[in-house]
Amino acid sequence: MAQIIIKNLRKDFGNFTAVKASSFTIEDGEFFMLLGPSGCGKTTTLRMIAGLELPTSGEIFIDGEEVSQKPVSQRDIAFVFQMFALYPHLNVRQNISYPLKSQGMSKANISAKVAEVAQILGIEDILKKPVGGLSGGDRQRVALGRAIVREPKAFMMDEPLGALDAEFRERMSEELRALHDRMGATTVYVTHDQLEAMQMGDKIVVMNHGSVEQFGVPQQIYDWPATLFVADFIGSPSMNFLEFSGEISKGDTQVALSRQVFGIPAQLQNAKGDLVFGVRPEHVSLDDNSEYIGEIMAIEYLGTTQIVTIKTLNGVIKARISAAKIVEVGQNVGLAFDPQTITIFDKASGVALLSEANKGVLDHG
Ligand code: ATP
Repeated sequence: MAQIIIKNLRKDFGNFTAVKASSFTIEDGEFFMLLGPSGCGKTTTLRMIAGLELPTSGEIFIDGEEVSQKPVSQRDIAFVFQMFALYPHLNVRQNISYPLKSQGMSKANISAKVAEVAQILGIEDILKKPVGGLSGGDRQRVALGRAIVREPKAFMMDEPLGALDAEFRERMSEELRALHDRMGATTVYVTHDQLEAMQMGDKIVVMNHGSVEQFGVPQQIYDWPATLFVADFIGSPSMNFLEFSGEISKGDTQVALSRQVFGIPAQLQNAKGDLVFGVRPEHVSLDDNSEYIGEIMAIEYLGTTQIVTIKTLNGVIKARISAAKIVEVGQNVGLAFDPQTITIFDKASGVALLSEANKGVLDHG
């Protein structure tokens, strides 16, 4: 088990900077997600932590020891590439034993270790089977077994469930998280799937174009997105954004948007310039008394809720409302937003003017 500290980590490939001055801390025993769109630098970051790629600058500490320029063999980290990458000519027991054999461990100790791992993973009955004929789930368990058997300080996983269909993926992600909870080993997990990151992670780093946009627990990131990028990337459907230009004078508690007045959190009373008003679909309600009117363009029924797409003067807004509410396409409806849930961003920088970190500290104009 290990704490991993990343300080100003940077990686250049020629003239291209894949990772720009990243800093964050992964606590001992955490299930930690590196999240972001394709090409944002997640895999490069993971490979630098594992020692498969050396950083251009910056530092990596594993349990207090600086390892930035040390080779893989001196870091004691298991890298789980694709869970299906097994040695096809070996059986399950031989696949799991392999890393221990390479370390020169005695036969008796290997046998005891493999038995222990097989029991944790629930695969005792398939130890003698060739891996070729195994089901997808069992192959995945064997691949995991091979990684955990040597008890490394930490696990690095790069989109391990990426190739699986939705149902199987959900089952394996639950199994993986349960396994982590039993073993408590620090795990760093790369994904581009925000839902997977929110469901599985203790903490999430959101990356974009090689930079860390935000770092925190899933709820912090969902409730207090630090940037427009994070607000847009996290949540499905994502946050609604309405642009407006103007000034919120000191003491104002409301802003006007298309003639309709909205309440705003008290800390935003000094904001001015080109601003973006963000509200999540579940915080938009249909309100007959509101003068902010839009026309329903589409309705997506989801069982207990429905996503209603509404065209307004400021653009399209999505509302997540109870499925019990009767609405129809073409209907005009009034919209209301809960002021406590509104986020306002500076349009040019994309930075949230009010975030959990800078609550009440407005440094804008
Ligand atoms: P994906 O999910 O698509 O793998 P990612 O966020 O993991 O995306 P990386 O694989 O870290 O992204 O790549 C970040 C950027 O660095 C990409 O633009 C990629 O093309 C570039 N890159 C990665 N490895 C190399 C390399 N060895 N040489 C040159 N460029 C590279």
